[in-house]
Amino acid sequence: MNENGTDYPERTIKETIGLGFAGRCPRCGQGRIFRGRLEIVDECPVCGLVLSEHDAGDGAVVPALLILVTLAVWVEFKYEPALWVHIVLWGPIGTLLTLWLLPRLKGIGVALQHKHRSTEVPTKPGGA
Ligand SMILES: [Zn+2]
Repeated sequence: MNENGTDYPERTIKETIGLGFAGRCPRCGQGRIFRGRLEIVDECPVCGLVLSEHDAGDGAVVPALLILVTLAVWVEFKYEPALWVHIVLWGPIGTLLTLWLLPRLKGIGVALQHKHRSTEVPTKPGGA
């Protein structure tokens, strides 16, 4: 039992981000938080943490786009390819990278909300 009087361990930022990246519940670390690709489950199937009120929204899109644009700018300055190379390169890479990255970034967002939001309701994100 931790200082909050629960059986769930206090997690460091690194552990919290790791759980979000893996798509695991930020409280118990076992339940999956995704139903499908980007849809968050209403509650953790293992510990019952209510995730339906999370507020991650589209917050994962901005960092994903920043990563993609950074890569494109880096390729432009490093190799100076023709425009058609960018078009051929970034269509498929952007699609695949975004599909892989978005659920991980959204999971990190939900996990960080759970860690940093304070609420007195133990089943809500941020609750003990
Ligand atoms: Zn859980």
